[in-house]
Amino acid sequence: MDFSTGSYTSWVVVIQWAAEVSLGLYVLDLITGIVHMHLDYQEVRDRALRLHVEKTIPDVIRFEKEDPLFYTATPNDQYLWNFHVHHDAPYPSVDDETELMMQIIRPLAPVYLLSVILCYLGYMNPTFARIWFAALTVGPLVRFDFIKIMMTPHTSHKSPRARPHLQEA
Ligand SMILES: [Zn+2]
Repeated sequence: MDFSTGSYTSWVVVIQWAAEVSLGLYVLDLITGIVHMHLDYQEVRDRALRLHVEKTIPDVIRFEKEDPLFYTATPNDQYLWNFHVHHDAPYPSVDDETELMMQIIRPLAPVYLLSVILCYLGYMNPTFARIWFAALTVGPLVRFDFIKIMMTPHTSHKSPRARPHLQEA
């Protein structure tokens, strides 16, 4: 085989792209999974708030708006309680898409910034940098469909709230 032919080179490029995209998807899933797990394991400091459970989205909204246990809590406790609530009162989320995206972007921001600095200083291999930045950038944007699917409890298939929303998507 003549390795200098154009068609051989283009196959290498295709395989390289496929490998990079697959790796990027894996890294992306890993990063967002780690962020989610990290937040899941963060503890709400206020014991009463930590142990407080709301089972439905309307109850969550009412609790966050009207109960001093929530609105007098520290911003960090509020953020964590609001994040953890997806385990007790899953899909559809209390927060809108933008807020859901920001919940992943906030903890990722310092990692992103550090990566930009390391890359700028030349500590990053170009292939690694491509995969890494693609994953960091695309991660918060595409994750939500996966999260929505994962957050959909078995019972929500019967829920009239979940249906129309899923059809919209
Ligand atoms: Zn979770």
